Order: sequence, then C-alpha cells, then structure tokens
Amino acid sequence: MPDVAIIGAGPAGAVAAALLVKAGWSVEIFERTHFPRFSIGESLLPQAMEWLEDAGLLRDVIETGFQHKNGAMFQWGTREAAFDFREKFTPGWGTTYQVRRDIFDDVLARGAARLGAKLHFGQTVTAMQPHATQPRLTVQDETGADRVVEARFVLDASGFGRVLARLLDLEIPVAVPPRMAMFRHVRDHIPPQAYDRNKILISINPNKPSVWYWMIPLADGLCSIGVVGEIADLQAARNGNADRNSRLAAWVAESGLMHQLLSKAEPVNDGGEIVGYACRVKNLVGPGYALLGNAGEFLDPVFSSGVTIALKSASLAAKAVDRQLRGEMPNWDAEFCKPLVKGVDTFRTYVNGWYEGSLQRVIFNQSATAQLAGHDRIKSMVTSILAGYAWDEENPFVRRPQETLEMVASLCE
Ligand code: FAD
Repeated sequence: MPDVAIIGAGPAGAVAAALLVKAGWSVEIFERTHFPRFSIGESLLPQAMEWLEDAGLLRDVIETGFQHKNGAMFQWGTREAAFDFREKFTPGWGTTYQVRRDIFDDVLARGAARLGAKLHFGQTVTAMQPHATQPRLTVQDETGADRVVEARFVLDASGFGRVLARLLDLEIPVAVPPRMAMFRHVRDHIPPQAYDRNKILISINPNKPSVWYWMIPLADGLCSIGVVGEIADLQAARNGNADRNSRLAAWVAESGLMHQLLSKAEPVNDGGEIVGYACRVKNLVGPGYALLGNAGEFLDPVFSSGVTIALKSASLAAKAVDRQLRGEMPNWDAEFCKPLVKGVDTFRTYVNGWYEGSLQRVIFNQSATAQLAGHDRIKSMVTSILAGYAWDEENPFVRRPQETLEMVASLCE
C-alpha cells in the first residue's frame, strides 16, 4: 500500500511524485501508455522552472538540451510585438525551454523514478472508490487483468483522460465556445538570420481574428506548428482542401510571417488534432483525492499556461498531502483550491481578453502603452503574466487582472 497513488505520469504527476518522495512518502504512479509518447503543449513558461527546481528535476531538464526560450513574438498582418520574459516585473527565472513533450515527459517521469517513485507503464486506472483515509483505485494491466490499489491519498494527474472527473461525475460545462487545434511537427529549414528561435511565434489570421497560429521552434531544426479556432471554422474544407493536413496547410498559408518562414518546411509526422479541449470540474478535492493539472481544468493553449498550471497544482497539492499524511489537518480549500484558482483566473482574464480583442489591442500597442504609462513598467507587469507569474500578488496586474487589463486596453484605443 503506497502512501500516495498517482494517476498519470505527465508533468503534473511526475512533479507531484518527485516532491512527495522527497518528503519521505512512498509513491506509485500508474500510467496508461508507455513513454516516450507524443503529447501537445511544447512551450513552457519561465515560472515553471521554479517548480521543476523544487522537485529536483531541473537538472535533468537542463541536461537534455532542449531549445532555449526567452520570450514570445506576436504578429498580426504587418503588426509585430516581441515580449522578452527577462524584462518581467516579478523576480525569478526569465528563460525556459521549448520542448518535445515525448522527451520532456519521459525525462520528468524517469527523474521522479530516480528519486524513488515507483512508475508503472501500461496500467490504466478504471475505477475509484473515494475514502477519506483509504481511497481505492482499480488498475487494469495490458492483459485486461484488474487489481485494486489502496493508498492513503490519490492524486489524479490524468490530463485530458480526466479520470476522476468522469468516474465521479465532476465535470461541469465551460463558458467558452468549443474550439479545436490542428498541429504537426515539421523540419523547418528556417535560415538562422530570419527568426530568433528563442521565441515562439503567435500569429493571428488577418481576416478572422478568432483563428490564431503557433510556431514553436524545437531543438534539431524541428518546429511545432498549429492552428486554433472554433470547431466549425477549422473542420470546414479550406480552399477546397478537406483532409486535416491540407486544411492545416491552407490555414497556415494565410498566416503571413509564419507562412514565409516555413516556405521550405517538410512534415516529419502525421500531425493530429484536439477538439473541444476546454474543461472544468465542480470540485478539485474530495475524500482522499485531489485533481491536478488538466485533470481539473484546462483553459486554452494561447498563453502556453497548461504545463505551468499543472506544475503549480502539483506543488500546492504535494504540500497539503504531506501535511495530511503527517496527521495534520490541511485546509484544502485555503491551501490548494483558492491559491491555484487565483493564478488560473489571471490566465482566464488574459485568455478572455485575447478572444474579445482587448488584450490584442494592448499587445500590438506597446509604444502607446509605454508612453501613456510613463516608462515600461506596465509592459513589465504584463510580461510577468505572459512569463507565467500569474500568482505574484505584488503585481497589480495579478491582484486585479480584469480592471488593469481594461484600463490599459482603453488607454490603447
Ligand atoms: P498530461 O500531460 O496530459 O498527462 C496525463 C497523463 O495521464 C498522460 O500520460 C496519460 O496517458 C495518462 N492517463 C490518462 N488517463 C489515464 C488512466 N485512465 N490511467 C492511467 N494514466 C492515464 N501547455 C503548455 O504549457 N504549453 C503549450 O504550448 C501548450 N500548448 C497546447 C496546445 C493545445 C492545442 C492544447 C490542447 C494544450 C496545450 N497545452 C500547452 C496544455 C498542455 O498540453 C497540458 O496542460 C499539460 O500537458 C497538462 O499536463 P498534465 O500533467 O496535467 O497532463
């Protein structure tokens, strides 16, 4: 009987496991697939580095040699705006990585195992019996055989598998239009002088601002490219192209800078799509369990916040589980749910601002913003949030995200 059973070995599961074994608890992770396996979500934020460091996994990540990242470039028609994360308001890491997730997730999971977590691949969690002190999971192996695993606490880090949300009927509807993404890896052949690979590129479709693109340069001359939009727009044939990869190419052809940069690109995989990814639950915590990362909520990919939120949830939950296993009485709402949701809500304001257009006005009007505010202080506060420092209450843009964003957007009109 492990102290803690974790469902899923993605970033949230691996970091929670590493933190808990470091605190002296026995941890078993049950992962449905075998690593390395493909996953989307390749652009990290600098804030995430702090939690990788706390978990004792940062060295493993640094030594792997991922593509360095220091910021983001936004482009819409002829307008361009670059944000350098090192110019942020909040102290802490100003750089991070753009990662192939098959490699990154494998590095983290094996790092957690090196620290002492027991990692089981090919084991799918199929049922859960909540209990305040002895929750039970049913785990199925690849022969179809079931076994019951009892632990003192269960963490659900199953990502889009949303295991406990489905099994315990925790899902609630989200208040955003259902969107989808189509994506692919390419060998980009971008000439070194044409683009700064240390920055991801986010472009907006010149005619349809609800459709946007990502280009994430990876190590070894590869790039992850993708397009995001409402389902009806992206599923419809585009310029006579009906199959997924041709629709992706047809949308990219309208992107402007990204299309120019990728003029010699060659696909290296078959690509994929995710439809209707936004999700939410009514409770992040129940008797003997808590939900981490995407298993609890996923907002939107536009600001690359997914892995950062997953690691923040792992970090907060590990502290509360540690206290609970010591026989203390953590206040899960005050120590886990509320602090986590505070940062998620900051990102939510920015995601909503992006699709409503107010944030786009701010991003593409930096000189006006700087002039009106005097100095670059406002830009540094917005940069902090884009760098993932969405929990820093010293930043007025975190304390009052909606008000400050509206104020700056109206100054930029
Ligand atoms: P995951 O990484 O999904 O890991 C969950 C693990 O649980 C998986 O390995 C899965 O196999 C396992 N599992 C599932 N079900 C079971 C089961 N029943 N039993 C056992 N194991 C199970 N985030 C970023 O930070 N940057 C980005 O650039 C970014 N881009 C994105 C683009 C798109 C289009 C989308 C949809 C998301 C993007 N994200 C991005 C979000 C990112 O993918 C996730 O937030 C992140 O992977 C969450 O990590 P996690 O550990 O919660 O879950």
